[in-house]
Amino acid sequence: MRLKDLCVALDKKAPEKLYAKEGDKVGLFVGDLERDIKKVLTVTDASGDAIDYAIENKVDMILCHHPLFFDPVDRLVTSDILQDKLYKLAHNDIAVFSMHTNLDSVPGGLNDIFADLLGLKNPVPIERKRIKYYMMVCFATEEYKENILKALFEAGAGTKNNYKDVFFEFKGRCHFTAIGEAQPLIGIRNKPVDIEETSFSVLVSEIYLDRVVETYMRVHPYDVPVYYLAESPECDYLPSIGRVGDLEKKLSFEEFRDLCLKAFELPYAKYNFNGDLSKKIKRVGICSGSGMSLFDKACEMGVDAFVCGDIKHDAYLHATDKGKILLDLGHYETECTSSIVLADYIKDIDPQIETINFEVLRGNKLVLKMRECSI
Ligand SMILES: [Zn+2]
Repeated sequence: MRLKDLCVALDKKAPEKLYAKEGDKVGLFVGDLERDIKKVLTVTDASGDAIDYAIENKVDMILCHHPLFFDPVDRLVTSDILQDKLYKLAHNDIAVFSMHTNLDSVPGGLNDIFADLLGLKNPVPIERKRIKYYMMVCFATEEYKENILKALFEAGAGTKNNYKDVFFEFKGRCHFTAIGEAQPLIGIRNKPVDIEETSFSVLVSEIYLDRVVETYMRVHPYDVPVYYLAESPECDYLPSIGRVGDLEKKLSFEEFRDLCLKAFELPYAKYNFNGDLSKKIKRVGICSGSGMSLFDKACEMGVDAFVCGDIKHDAYLHATDKGKILLDLGHYETECTSSIVLADYIKDIDPQIETINFEVLRGNKLVLKMRECSI
């Protein structure tokens, strides 16, 4: 499969526009768009050893969770660790594609897997992404209206909740004089014209807006199709990062800690040992990777404990003061399952593409356990 087609197919699995946090860097970092991709290495990070493995084993693409870099790179010199990686990747024609916060948020992604591993019941997102709607007002004579509307509906317009093909219309008089190089469909240049026109409005989600506008301009028979857009108060909410759910039954701190350790195949976890560990735990908030930015929101949702990775000392104090249990299971440890999801995406897109899971080669216990369970 050509790299450019694979990039489109991967984006459909966890669309950047719908699920990535604003300002995140996801998608293709390195790659020849025309290159044929036959072998993909899935891994949490495009680390030096993963890149070396890819070179030695003639891998065409590394599909990873974390972005290859955040800050702009202004040169490509091998004395710098990051630049050396980029140089090697380009030199060996290996593409790198990253699915980051979009993979955390998307249904079936890392946060849902996390909640599932802890057995949380009815998990709901801590954050949601607001999707805007626009009212698109279009104009055409009656004979062309149906065709244009059909194309707009196919492009995604006129749909909200359980209703589709929705539009509102009214008829009116349109007056114009075509001048200069105009090619009017009706009337002739330099002569005022009055026609009966229909104005029809459709609601369009921002997800489909570009496609709907492009379709309107393409299918409309006028040389200068006219429309206008107004933001609507309508909106949808998509799941974003973090989840809150309930344990099957109340657990003591020790029971809950052991549940987390067993779920993630870990020998130990960090926690706020100076907190009140005598409280029973029922409602739990989670976020894969460094998710402390969600802690206060999770508290508002009534959690007894919050679990993520990469927790700093002052965050433990904050949680203790709030009377909550805080557990750090590790950043990599809570995100290594990305290698499984990413491999599943590739298998689903094109079963002919060979996938190698680098976390399996590393002997990652959680990934090995999850792979065993899925067989
Ligand atoms: Zn991360």
